[in-house]
Amino acid sequence: MRIILALWIALLGVGAAQAEPPHYDVAARFDPAGILDADVTITLSEAQAEKAFLLSQRFTLRPMALPKGVTMTVEPSDTPMPALNKYVFRFARPDAAPVKLRFRYAGPILTENDSGNKPLRPEGYELFIDHMWFPVGADVQTRFTVDATIDGLAADLVVVAQGEVTRTPTGVRIKRDFIDIDLPMVAMRGLERAEAHGVEFYSRDLSTRLSGWYVKHAEGAARYFEAMYGPLPRKVRMAQVWRERSMGYARTAYTVLSEAGRNTADVTEVSPARYVAHEVGHAWWMLASPLTDDFWLVESAAEYMSMRYVEHAFGAEELAKNIAAKREATVKAGPVMGHGRPDRLQLYGKGPLLLVDLEHRIGRPAMDRLMIAMAKEPVHTTSIFLGHLTRIAGADAARAFETALHT
Ligand SMILES: [Zn+2]
Repeated sequence: MRIILALWIALLGVGAAQAEPPHYDVAARFDPAGILDADVTITLSEAQAEKAFLLSQRFTLRPMALPKGVTMTVEPSDTPMPALNKYVFRFARPDAAPVKLRFRYAGPILTENDSGNKPLRPEGYELFIDHMWFPVGADVQTRFTVDATIDGLAADLVVVAQGEVTRTPTGVRIKRDFIDIDLPMVAMRGLERAEAHGVEFYSRDLSTRLSGWYVKHAEGAARYFEAMYGPLPRKVRMAQVWRERSMGYARTAYTVLSEAGRNTADVTEVSPARYVAHEVGHAWWMLASPLTDDFWLVESAAEYMSMRYVEHAFGAEELAKNIAAKREATVKAGPVMGHGRPDRLQLYGKGPLLLVDLEHRIGRPAMDRLMIAMAKEPVHTTSIFLGHLTRIAGADAARAFETALHT
């Protein structure tokens, strides 16, 4: 009997560890002047004592009806973006899950803190986490499923989003049953759609050289990475937008690319190829915290994989050129780790070079085993990476790599 009881308790433990992820029910409306009116209910199924969310200060929150045993305090926050409010909820009875938190708020969708990506432009909307337009878990790592109804979208806007996307005459319904940290959406006039292996691609002009390269190398990179990691879990929906900032970003099964700096006659094929391969690489490399040292496991790893793809598609000489450029750019870059989130140069220059050096030290077969083992981990931290490295290539290699990260 005692054994059966122990087993029963163990099973309960497993059940508790696999609680449902947070779920967002979103009803949002945009008016033509760019005012957002939102009603977001967050269901938390996992027991916790405290949970905090960030929302931009440009939104006015209506008084919240808190569930029994829940209290809330508000404080200003400038992390990871300026001008945020941090809503901290405390749960007197953490075991009383699930709990529903309902945020109702309104305010302008435009913000000066948009990291150079205007959320509303003449061609339509580009929304993602940087706009802090929905309550974002303060760890910026809270992954959730979502049912969203977004209204106030003109009929000629083509919507690109994650999951099941249903256009209505005045808006869109998004049903996403897989988890992610963001609720990203592009809704723009004149987007055309193309399909290839691993990718569903949207652009205002599919006939440009740049669009062609993006589709070709999204597919090429997907096939190259799949040979290593196994099938892409989901086809990547990819929107090419036009704005001054050249930054792109990837979420689960979703990527935004920019035309900027690449839609000129002098651009060679390898540049957009490396860029799109980096974004496809995030399908396996996106699980480390963006607020910590460990973020190199997102950006440096995706960049390293894109360099591998460049070598595969364009040859060793092109890769050597890229490595030389990165070495030159990072001569004065500080250590990747030891000071919180690494900077741009450390993430995209120095970190990938350390991975290239590691590959030269332990050999490509061991490097591949390491990357494959790590990609299977549900959470990415440096210590988990070093654990795999120790197992695969020995303690000396792991120590040397850890030292390099801190040098
Ligand atoms: Zn990236």
